[in-house]
Amino acid sequence: MNIHEYQGKEILRNNGVSVPNGKVAFTADEAVEAAKTLESSVYVVKAQIHAGGRGKAGGVKIAKSLDDVRTYADELLGKTLVTHQTGPEGKEVKRLLIEEGCDIKKEYYVGLVLDRATSQVVLMASEEGGTEIEEVAEQTPEKIFKEYIDPVVGLTGFQARRIAFNINIPKELVGKAAKFMLGLYQVYLEKDASIVEINPLVVTGDGNVMALDAKFNFDSNALYRHKDVLALRDLEEEDAKEIEASKYDLSYISLDGNIGCMVNGAGLAMATMDIVKHYGGDPANFLDVGGGATAEKVTEAFKIILSDENVKGIFVNIFGGIMKCDVIATGVVEAAKQIGLDVPLVVRLEGTNVDLGKEILNQSGLNIIAAESMADGAQKIVEQVG
Ligand code: GDP
Ligand code: MN
Repeated sequence: MNIHEYQGKEILRNNGVSVPNGKVAFTADEAVEAAKTLESSVYVVKAQIHAGGRGKAGGVKIAKSLDDVRTYADELLGKTLVTHQTGPEGKEVKRLLIEEGCDIKKEYYVGLVLDRATSQVVLMASEEGGTEIEEVAEQTPEKIFKEYIDPVVGLTGFQARRIAFNINIPKELVGKAAKFMLGLYQVYLEKDASIVEINPLVVTGDGNVMALDAKFNFDSNALYRHKDVLALRDLEEEDAKEIEASKYDLSYISLDGNIGCMVNGAGLAMATMDIVKHYGGDPANFLDVGGGATAEKVTEAFKIILSDENVKGIFVNIFGGIMKCDVIATGVVEAAKQIGLDVPLVVRLEGTNVDLGKEILNQSGLNIIAAESMADGAQKIVEQVG
């Protein structure tokens, strides 16, 4: 689960990690009121969306007066911001962060992420801050420094200072930078974050080290023990189809393609996406209806796939084990009855109660293209949408 920058900064502030003073605003009036409470003559008006690249897209404005704050707030609120992370459709700005401006001497990058290869949290930092870290990693990988963190010992003061030296933080500020990183690691750990990215971390003219941006991603499997974090969820920033799916406990991820996939089991779902790709198609989603799904759940899953305007065809690929083929068939027929099926449907069923499943589909009157195998099904659906 992602949160907004202002929420991330609030978490950091509450845990003693240095960030500029600032407040969230939902209207231009609130933006001006927020600015009045700040002890500064320069304000930064920042669009709050769940995507980076706002700076380059015009989502970060420097205001020299309260009038400027109002002008920029009016300009940004309601605007659809298109950044390299939003996709071409962009994201509508509904919240702003109004922050004290600061005198940036230099921008750095700091991130914490779980490294699955070593099963350790890794602290990454670079003196090439402000820009995209992916670019730095590609062009000047030697400018990214890493410290692997022993889960028992935690991030040590030595490691924090070493990485601060490596990225050329001015010597007199290495202590402050190290304190920042130790605090950041503590927050990452205590809140069960999966990613924290501070880009940029800045050194200021008055000798401070602080986070000018904050991106958090939290492990959704741990949210049950962080009600405070869960409360920060902004459903308007999430995919409506994914929210609907989560209500029914379906593992659903929306993708860019046009072939809707209904599959049971995560492994089979991934294999299905691979084989669709292999035959030149593009999956519209990842969907694992799970083992214990009821006909009702399958109905909802099918409805979610059909609600995606990009879907030009559906491939049902089921290996009935714990999940029975007749349950899937009943769900598919029920959903098609409820909302109509106006795209080609290719079905490959195998396993428990397969004959019963096929019979239900055959008697449904639906126009179903039967497939003999995964490969056959993938080829058929690609042909249909192509
Ligand atoms: P992102 O582009 O979505 O990652 O948004 P950031 O929060 O990282 O902002 C982009 C850039 O705007 C930063 O790299 C800074 O150069 C600039 N910026 C952000 N906040 C401030 C601020 O408080 N003062 C000044 N002067 N510049 C800022
Ligand atoms: Mn940033």
